[in-house]
Amino acid sequence: MSINPAFLAALEKQIAQEFILTTPQACWPYGTDSTQRFFMPQAVVFPKTHEDVVFITALCNEYEVSMVPRGLGSGAVGGAVPIQEGIVVCLLRMQDILTIDTANRVMIAEPGVTNFAIQQALYDKGLFWAPDPGSREFCSLGGNLAHNSSGPRAIKYGTVRENTLGLTAVTGAGDTITTGAYTSKSVVGYDLTRLLIGSEGTLATITQATLKLLPLPSRQMTVRALYRSITGATQAVTQIMGQAELPFALEFMDKTTVNLVRQYGGIELPHDVQALLLIGIDGNEHSINDALAIISAAAKNPDLMSIEVAHSQQQADQLWQARRRLSPCLRHVAPKKINEDIVVPVSRIPDLITGLEKLSAHYGIVIVSFGHAGNGNIHVNLMYDPANEKQATQIDQCLQDVFSLVLALKGSLSGEHGIGLAKQAFFSQEIDPNSLHLMRQIKAIFDPKGILNPGKIFPV
Ligand SMILES: Cc1cc2nc3c(=O)[nH]c(=O)nc-3n(C[C@H](O)[C@H](O)[C@H](O)COP(=O)(O)OP(=O)(O)OC[C@H]3O[C@@H](n4cnc5c(N)ncnc54)[C@H](O)[C@@H]3O)c2cc1C
Repeated sequence: MSINPAFLAALEKQIAQEFILTTPQACWPYGTDSTQRFFMPQAVVFPKTHEDVVFITALCNEYEVSMVPRGLGSGAVGGAVPIQEGIVVCLLRMQDILTIDTANRVMIAEPGVTNFAIQQALYDKGLFWAPDPGSREFCSLGGNLAHNSSGPRAIKYGTVRENTLGLTAVTGAGDTITTGAYTSKSVVGYDLTRLLIGSEGTLATITQATLKLLPLPSRQMTVRALYRSITGATQAVTQIMGQAELPFALEFMDKTTVNLVRQYGGIELPHDVQALLLIGIDGNEHSINDALAIISAAAKNPDLMSIEVAHSQQQADQLWQARRRLSPCLRHVAPKKINEDIVVPVSRIPDLITGLEKLSAHYGIVIVSFGHAGNGNIHVNLMYDPANEKQATQIDQCLQDVFSLVLALKGSLSGEHGIGLAKQAFFSQEIDPNSLHLMRQIKAIFDPKGILNPGKIFPV
């Protein structure tokens, strides 16, 4: 159905025509995200200012048109897909970094800036913003905030929630709210900042964020530890995380992943490696060697084959790049994948991996596991061929069993990707009925007409 002409005419009073797309060929790229689910938007609008977003939201309420906030569409759960027609509000024209306050270690930025541009702007000032998703070059700050996205560094420096001081946003009702404070401590009222972070664009459209910055450590090392058994690697993770000297990254790769790194990452590795840990260590020139010694000692067990420090920046970059490219590389394993970003307590990782091996054997479905082991956040990929009748009929039950395993281990369904459309059918397995009821009430207060990113997160 095409867009209501009266709505469009009213929209053009605030937004220039060139920033409103209405033809199917122009709107098409904005109907999907990295899940490849697709729904055609009726129009795509590109606001430039907070006032534009206020205007668009008021109009959507008046005409009861649904609106879906969108950054770069790299989301992994269908969050930015407009399932109920309506408009997509793409925030990419709002990409200014407004303030870098080095004295107070604060940045104020608009939602359309990429994570990578934020890090680049800070590098020369000796600062960084902790969240570092593997998609940093092609994801926006708005998307990071909406999904509480993070990457390897979360283990030492935290996620978006721990590194954001405040937000400016437009609620689904069209009201402007300014949450949080400019300071690193504040206890005034309910914490709306952390409520909006991770709310997946269902409560408010974020138009500005005040970010907490950290000083860049002067020294970094990348360490590669190879294990002859998967248990050896997972036990080392528990050992490393159980002592006081934390690495800034602790990434786990299983045997299939190691093969992908060898084949497509151009990295030579012995053929009997069953698992690999990629460990990032930081500090200053006085502390880094002590940290290396302590963490290396914790990584040792009878199944450790070798532990090596990358001898050049180039070698370190090659390892991290191979890690970042793992997701796209999985297409070489099977035609289709279901990619879950479950999380379990670190001490339960060995049980998780053993359980996944049993499920893989039971269903005859390859399960590839890698990810942020230091947080217990493992990317579990169920690889299958839809043309294989047995796999196609059993894949849903296999996925359900994976989630049941995770919850039995006191884990959580999503560590960083969120729920969106992809996991809403499983939501109630983790969230109790009273909490779900409260969440629905919160949604209704922020967005009484239900125009903002409808049909996401909650079970249908
Ligand atoms: C190859 C690859 C690697 C990835 N690696 C990681 C990783 O390491 N860690 C990780 O956490 N994620 C990762 N992701 C997932 C994804 O990149 C993140 O979720 C990212 O934060 C999404 O940003 P985006 O700009 O693409 O958001 P979009 O996909 O455009 O939107 C995502 C959600 O945010 C909402 N949204 C967007 N902007 C706003 C706004 N201004 N206000 C309110 N809501 C808004 C949307 O409505 C939607 O619900 C990866 C994805 C890919 C494809």
